[in-house]
Amino acid sequence: MVKSKVKFFNDSSNEDDKNQSFYIDKIVNYLQNKYRHKDMPLAYIHTFGCQQNVNDGEKIKGMIALMGYGFTDSAENADFVLFNTCAVRENAEDRVFGNIGALKRYKTANRNMIIAVCGCMTQQKHIQEKIKKTYHHVNIVFGTHSLHKLPEIIYQAINTDKRIFDVESEESEIIESIPIVRQSKIKAWVPISYGCDHFCTYCVVPYVRGKEKSRTPENILDEIRGIVSTGVKEIGLLGQNVNSYGKGVSPKINFSELLKRVNDIEGDFRIRFMSPHPKDANEDMFDTIANCEKVCNSIHLPFQSGNDKILKKMNRKYTADEYLNLVNYGKKIIPNITFTTDIIVGFPGETYEKFLDTIKILKQVKFASVYSFIYSKRIGTPAEKMEDLIPKKEKSDWLREMLRYQEDITLDLNKSFVGKTVNVLVDEIGKQQDGFISGRCDENILVEFPGAKSLIGNFVKVEIKDYMKCVLIGKKID
Ligand code: SF4
Repeated sequence: MVKSKVKFFNDSSNEDDKNQSFYIDKIVNYLQNKYRHKDMPLAYIHTFGCQQNVNDGEKIKGMIALMGYGFTDSAENADFVLFNTCAVRENAEDRVFGNIGALKRYKTANRNMIIAVCGCMTQQKHIQEKIKKTYHHVNIVFGTHSLHKLPEIIYQAINTDKRIFDVESEESEIIESIPIVRQSKIKAWVPISYGCDHFCTYCVVPYVRGKEKSRTPENILDEIRGIVSTGVKEIGLLGQNVNSYGKGVSPKINFSELLKRVNDIEGDFRIRFMSPHPKDANEDMFDTIANCEKVCNSIHLPFQSGNDKILKKMNRKYTADEYLNLVNYGKKIIPNITFTTDIIVGFPGETYEKFLDTIKILKQVKFASVYSFIYSKRIGTPAEKMEDLIPKKEKSDWLREMLRYQEDITLDLNKSFVGKTVNVLVDEIGKQQDGFISGRCDENILVEFPGAKSLIGNFVKVEIKDYMKCVLIGKKID
């Protein structure tokens, strides 16, 4: 048998992980025999949704690469197709089903094609049933808690005509050491916790991602040291609620202490995190940011609604005033701090008057940008049963009104940067003009300026000369 060249789950003592190593070697062997006189097989991996999903997608790629697959950007050319799905909004689910349906003709042309669907959508019973009944060309369905078993699942699929459904209701422990192929050589997201215990009434995440579990600080810090040693310049700490980090970890540690320990790692890099929950965010978090030179002065702090009655119905456990107090404290102690946020428009029970409370928060905080969506009913959540009287058309009008306010706020904020010097991590070619390069400043606003491509992957001090709606224009300071 041909052994895979890279060790799989190499520092794990878990028997289940060693098992995966066994299956990966079997798949390598199988593919080498099957494709003996042809090009090696190709995999197409498409991830929908949030950064957590993107991180899972990187791990899927890590495992797939070890099996001997190459990667392609086209599902049509692939021998293995995987959709890593998101369940947060209905339209994301519709898109996934559209994509799965479109694969049918490719599979007719290539009978060997293996099609897999995983992620938050597949963790839901009604979705599993729909795929079982309607999408017969899908070979594999696995849930968020079965991710690390992908080699075993694929090995079963290539050895049987049966369809594989592997969805577990809960993961017993965090699986470390899963191989990973990262999307970027400049920025990397590192999960510090998984799952969520908060049960906001509109949200499906606690049901599909399970109970909140924190990684140990040793595992997190080791991973970050390894990433930084490869030249990565931005580390993003990832969790559904980073502020409740530390549950079940012994000796006790909280998010601020973790942030300090990440900040103490040697190297030329900066730190972001996503997302804090306003109910658990506190002055200590802002004090820590103010004292940690590597932590960026931009915070994504989702407020969802500016009306206390709606916040209560959402089970968010803070009031609009408490949210504003936090923001004002952050503004007082951290120079140039910027905020971004998430907003749900048209939650059940929201009226136009209540919606105006959200606009009030928008005007008071002056967010750099907002991620706003019309409420999307999710099966199995408490909000699914709430009376929802406002027509979709009216909610769309509210959303448009809100975005008009936000556009002016963003423009004003961007204007306030003119004349200031910002620290930009250059990560790609600019789009505004030939010869421009671009990246985000510490305040998380896009900046473009004339510069050499060789600066990509470096921090550059840039003086801001002009501004537009979505970008600051500057000049490199020599
Ligand atoms: S904090 Fe609320 S919105 Fe965020 S993942 Fe948990 S339940 Fe969902």
